[in-house]
Amino acid sequence: MSGAGTLDAWVGRMIGVARLPTRDDIDAYQLRCLNETVAHARSHSPFYRWRADWPEPFHLRGFGDLARLPLTTADDLARSDPSLIALPMRDAARLVTIPTSGTSGPPKRLFFTEADIEATVAYFEHGMATIVRPGSRVAIAFPAVRPDSVGDLLTRGLSRIGTFPEALPVDGSVDTLVAALRELQPTAIAGMPVTLGAAARRMAVDGGPPLRIETALVSADSVSPSFKTALAVIWGTEVFEHWGMTETGYGGALACAAHDGLHLRETELYAEIIDAATGRVLPDGCDGEIVITTLRRRGLPLIRYRTGDSGSIAEIPCRCGSVLRRLRLGGRMAEAIPLGEGKRLPREIIDDAIFSVEGVIDFSVELRPARRPCLVVDIVAADPRATGEVRSALLGHPVCGPMLRAAEIDIAVGMASGTRLALCRKRRVIVSHDVT
Ligand SMILES: [Zn+2]
Repeated sequence: MSGAGTLDAWVGRMIGVARLPTRDDIDAYQLRCLNETVAHARSHSPFYRWRADWPEPFHLRGFGDLARLPLTTADDLARSDPSLIALPMRDAARLVTIPTSGTSGPPKRLFFTEADIEATVAYFEHGMATIVRPGSRVAIAFPAVRPDSVGDLLTRGLSRIGTFPEALPVDGSVDTLVAALRELQPTAIAGMPVTLGAAARRMAVDGGPPLRIETALVSADSVSPSFKTALAVIWGTEVFEHWGMTETGYGGALACAAHDGLHLRETELYAEIIDAATGRVLPDGCDGEIVITTLRRRGLPLIRYRTGDSGSIAEIPCRCGSVLRRLRLGGRMAEAIPLGEGKRLPREIIDDAIFSVEGVIDFSVELRPARRPCLVVDIVAADPRATGEVRSALLGHPVCGPMLRAAEIDIAVGMASGTRLALCRKRRVIVSHDVT
């Protein structure tokens, strides 16, 4: 693997080098963009202009200098007073409001210009070109009806590379979704893990003809090894992970054929990993919170924005030959189950254990307090016998089992009431009472 199947050639064109870019080319581009972004934000955005903790004068000579600037948080984005917006409102092509997870506080507000939206469509275009072939029928299992929604932007990007994207019904039942997939017979699919996992597992047991889907782009939620295995077995699918959030302009980082980390979207984002407790920048290879700075956004630049996601930057070059830096993802830091004594069980581990049971298509999990706390798991599955298998899978999982036993947490597994799933959402982890 080298060159082909990577985003490097496109990145080279984007940053103005007429060949495959070297790491030095990308570093020079990013440093230049960081200085421009910081200067623009400081002079045009009330939030950055009025920050008292801003060193003055400020110019980055190297990436290490960025750590002298203060971090920006989801609360800053939600409070929006002073506003982070650095252009007149008439330049907004799209305003996005997203609820702040886990709080009853005001929603986060994002501001995108036409140029920001075009940058995302171009990223989806060139990113998807590495994982789908021209002529492919690509099923879009993200909401795609609203203009500039993720599904819409992905559809626009895919249309530019000679593929045939088609939106699936993701606001109804699994059976509706499965029927649409059988009719479309796609060769590739894009969606959230819970959506694709539900469709694949329903198909595996419904007695219909098998479907072969070569590749899947999976985004907006963590992807467990057992999910990848299920898609490989049921559809013969190679799963490519993508990481992104509204704050990153939807696109953020994409897996390559080596499947060893996700290559960052380095034309638009500079990523740092920090110690979440101290704010200190961590070296490559160390796990911490992912912090991003936007490189070209002028409407609402984000400088050292704490994403709330954990991960590390890979230390060694990728086997695919790309020079783009890679993220190794941890998960949403807020979505771990506190087990007491500072120990936390990541939701990604619970996903891995529960989705290893065939026939489970979705679940919710809640930690209920008591003298002996109980992990209440409600599963969606065709066969009620899966409840016993889920309990065994949680206790038998090499990470999850020992942690639950050591914390003396009981497990109660039941069938979820109702048959309709919220297909396009992340699984929720609820902690009724903080037991830390
Ligand atoms: Zn790679």
